Amino acid sequence: MLKTIANFDRMGEENAFTVLARANALAAQGRDIISLGIGQPDFRTPDFIVEAAIKALRDGHHGYTHATGILPLREAVAADLHKRFGVEVSPELTMILPGGKPTMFMAILMFGEPGAEIMYPDPGFPIYRSMIEYTGAKPVPVPIREENGFAFSAEETLKLITPRTRLLIVNSPANPTGGVTPKAEVDKLVVGLEKWPDVCVMSDEIYDHMVYDGEIHVCLLSYPSLRDRLILLNGWSKTYAMTGWRLGYAVWPPKLFEYARKLAVNLYSCVCASTQYAGLAALTGPQTEIERMVAEFDARRKVVVAGLNKLPGVSCTTPKGAFYAFPNVKRTGWKAKDLATAMLDQTGVVTIGGPDFGILGEGYLRLSYANSTENILKALARMGDFLASRKAA
Ligand code: PLP
Repeated sequence: MLKTIANFDRMGEENAFTVLARANALAAQGRDIISLGIGQPDFRTPDFIVEAAIKALRDGHHGYTHATGILPLREAVAADLHKRFGVEVSPELTMILPGGKPTMFMAILMFGEPGAEIMYPDPGFPIYRSMIEYTGAKPVPVPIREENGFAFSAEETLKLITPRTRLLIVNSPANPTGGVTPKAEVDKLVVGLEKWPDVCVMSDEIYDHMVYDGEIHVCLLSYPSLRDRLILLNGWSKTYAMTGWRLGYAVWPPKLFEYARKLAVNLYSCVCASTQYAGLAALTGPQTEIERMVAEFDARRKVVVAGLNKLPGVSCTTPKGAFYAFPNVKRTGWKAKDLATAMLDQTGVVTIGGPDFGILGEGYLRLSYANSTENILKALARMGDFLASRKAA
């Protein structure tokens, strides 16, 4: 018998990928599937970005790069953060990684061990809890509440900090709720954190371009009191419709950068060189296609929220960011995961049950509206028929 370490039994999953595989299998059998499941833009990566990758390959960028990324790209990330948020970031502390996930993997590995506590949003991106459990640290969920517009509450967060807290993970705009935390609440959190100088903060800002209704994204790098203990997670996947390219970036505090570099060297050496040149083109090229995509998400958001609020037993708070709606389905009488499964089997509409994002996700579904308006309307009609005619299992 192979003897592996027990920690792997504690590692979780991202169920969106399991549901995606099931939906693809059903589609392969000829079923008419509409996916509101996986969180990836349905747009193609803009052509000028694809061309930059092709050019990089033709120009001979075939080898390893520096483990932390090519310097022009790290400089472009720093310039972009300065342009958008007015923050000074040293390219020396900026790192290019294969997607957004590796930053959370590294950050949680750096702080997680038995006896430590790591705080994370619930409902939230499932990999946070999975990795915390893997390290043996105690996962401490920070409740994200519908009555709060799915923003995090500074007061509730601060109350959960203890002398054992090592890392606090925050995410706005948020997956799975689409919640955006207003600046006043972030300000309050940052002031409260001054009492806890040993707590590191990882801010997952991967949806930072996607805010609506006049909301403004607050980048946590803007707070000087956090700068020596803030990890910024961001990347190209969502903003530039580049999920399959695997490209992300982090800004590390000076003390952690070297650990992150070592982890990169041990794990993957560097990010694919041509992908990095694509990322450079994305940041330095015209942003018009990105603006068009965000405007399209905004239009779909309105369609999806209005449609969901007309379904029997469903109510949906208007999400202010990302490309997710998180409707409350408690009044349907269904358990959320049973509802998601039954709807997929019987109507071909793919959604994700809220409990896949945490205990407080019960009673909710996550819908990714990264699909055409036509398909969204079709999916809403099928959901309506289903809810009107089927009783909860
Ligand atoms: N963070 C959040 C909140 C996400 O929703 C996702 C992807 O769904 C990621 C990070 C990971 O992004 P990537 O695909 O670039 O690894």
